Amino acid sequence: MINESMREMGRHRSCIRELFEYGKQQAAIVGKENVFDFSIGNPSIPAPEEVNTAIIDAVEKLDSITVHGYTSSSGNASLRDMVTDDLNKRYGTKLTNFNIFFTCGAAPAVVSAVRALAVPGSEIIALAPFFPEYRVYVEPNGAKLVIVPPDRPHFQINFTELEKRITAHTQAVIVNSPNNPTGVIYSQETLEKLAGLLRRKEEEVGHPIYIISDEPYRELVYDDAVVPFIPSIYPDTIVCYSFSKALSVPGERIGYVLVADTCTDEIPLMDAIMGAARSIGHVCAPSLQQRVVALCAGVRPDMRVYDKNRMRLYDALTSYGYECVKPQGAFYMFVKAPGGDAQAFSDGAKAKNLLIVPGNDFGCPDYLRISTCVSYEMLERSLPVFKELIEEQ
Ligand code: PLP
Repeated sequence: MINESMREMGRHRSCIRELFEYGKQQAAIVGKENVFDFSIGNPSIPAPEEVNTAIIDAVEKLDSITVHGYTSSSGNASLRDMVTDDLNKRYGTKLTNFNIFFTCGAAPAVVSAVRALAVPGSEIIALAPFFPEYRVYVEPNGAKLVIVPPDRPHFQINFTELEKRITAHTQAVIVNSPNNPTGVIYSQETLEKLAGLLRRKEEEVGHPIYIISDEPYRELVYDDAVVPFIPSIYPDTIVCYSFSKALSVPGERIGYVLVADTCTDEIPLMDAIMGAARSIGHVCAPSLQQRVVALCAGVRPDMRVYDKNRMRLYDALTSYGYECVKPQGAFYMFVKAPGGDAQAFSDGAKAKNLLIVPGNDFGCPDYLRISTCVSYEMLERSLPVFKELIEEQ
């Protein structure tokens, strides 16, 4: 017999992947140049030179076992030191290699954190709009996903609705800033308010309520925007970080879970995260990539290409009448669906080979997500289609 809920998850790709796969099929029929694919968040800038140099150096200068052998399940201790040294320098923290556990990207990092906290009846809160995969990260892993409606149109946090949803079963709130899909960065003020609310609720319910801070876009910011470091604001924070987007290496599968040294139950929590990772088949993150990211811990992405796309698309779309919050980070734009129905608008766009993701699965059925990590040339050619679509409303 086959597990039907797993089969369902395998059969139905995410709404993002569905469109992305459709785009590839359609390109084979109508020609790649006639498909405007804004569906997926695949970094469109090359990995920085430092990444390639680190790979070549490792292969040429080190012995094979050091480069390709198993490491301890948390990762190589001296490489973890390099990552925490970078964080301590940037944020004035006192993290040690104990606090870091290398994973195969942010996805298993979040899953491990969720599984570590999933006691019977537990609830994990996501703030809409949220990355649709959170459903898959949470629900098959022993917890209920509780969704807080969005704070339109600014997309900070809807505190009135959040407070109503915190119960004695709440184990964690997932925070994602810079945010996929809005590109919004939660301000220091927003995060302090969140910390205040959670501290009060922790007192009330008598157990920790953790923030799981999912941060694949931490380094992707525009106009010198600042991304506050959440462990410095709220002690009970678990950071799930990924190098996928920051170093343009999403296929290399490398990231980490960081249990802040200020967390309640720091040691048992790290033990539970290690156990949770083990239970989903984690042995160690790729050894070569541990080395690469440790050596590149201080390398930041060159945001000029993404910024050029962001500004061109934002200026063009708002001049046509689209409404959108200006992204401060990441490489997405979240646009209000003209006519109000994102699925209908996305279907209409798809008929013209313009692929933009309806916000339904992000918890916002009246908004559309546009990935701006695309070629500038394709973006330019797509603009008349965007104009036509809004004029048809
Ligand atoms: N979380 C968010 C908000 C994302 O956007 C993504 C990828 O797009 C992930 C997690 C997964 O990232 P990774 O490739 O590191 O697993």
